[in-house]
Amino acid sequence: MGMLMPEISAATVSEWLKDYSEVISEHANELTDLDRQIGDADHGSNMARGMTAVAALDPNSFASAAELLKKAGMTLVSTVGGASGPLYGTFFLRLSTVIKTDGEPTAQLLADALDAGLAGIVARGKAEVGDKTLVDALSPAVDAVKKVAADGGSAAEALAKAAEAANEGRDATIEMVARRGRASYLGERSRGHQDPGATSMAMLVGSAARCLSGAES
Ligand code: ADP
Ligand code: MG
Repeated sequence: MGMLMPEISAATVSEWLKDYSEVISEHANELTDLDRQIGDADHGSNMARGMTAVAALDPNSFASAAELLKKAGMTLVSTVGGASGPLYGTFFLRLSTVIKTDGEPTAQLLADALDAGLAGIVARGKAEVGDKTLVDALSPAVDAVKKVAADGGSAAEALAKAAEAANEGRDATIEMVARRGRASYLGERSRGHQDPGATSMAMLVGSAARCLSGAES
């Protein structure tokens, strides 16, 4: 089975960012409700504000995917007040440093880009896997992409596996005790609640799989 992977360009990255913005707006109340359980009830509004600003960026005014990714990252850092803004912002900024040229991506390029994005989030937030944060959705997704790349699979296949792994990672946060961010103030009482950031991160990976994978050939 083959998949047609669209070329990475400002136009295709913009489709991804706009799709994610729509998903976030549709689920803003759900994300805020999750944050009400173990945080301060603003994750949905934080992400909706940031992604609405990102979705308003005109792809025609960017010469490459990298330029748009960089601006998206800077926009999130400057428009989102909460912890999530600088973390998601760093993620997109790091992607822009790896996806330097437009064109058809390999699974290995996606693995390198997502790995850099994860490393940026970890450098900034110091969360490890198991700390009940968005890292728990992103890290297994990165591992899944790396595995597909090592097995010689396609970029589209890598993104499909990444989306599954991110959803599983999100679900696994329910049983975790938070050790980073506001939820860590609750200690044991954070157990039994799904992490809001892991939920929005799984949505980002799912959106990438939908928008960047193309149609089956
Ligand atoms: P705030 O906590 O400032 O209100 P948000 O509510 O927008 O910000 O985002 C909360 C989410 O951010 C958490 O659910 C968690 O996934 C993520 N998060 C918080 N701190 C960290 C950290 N140090 N490293 C990684 N992710 C974090
Ligand atoms: Mg919050």
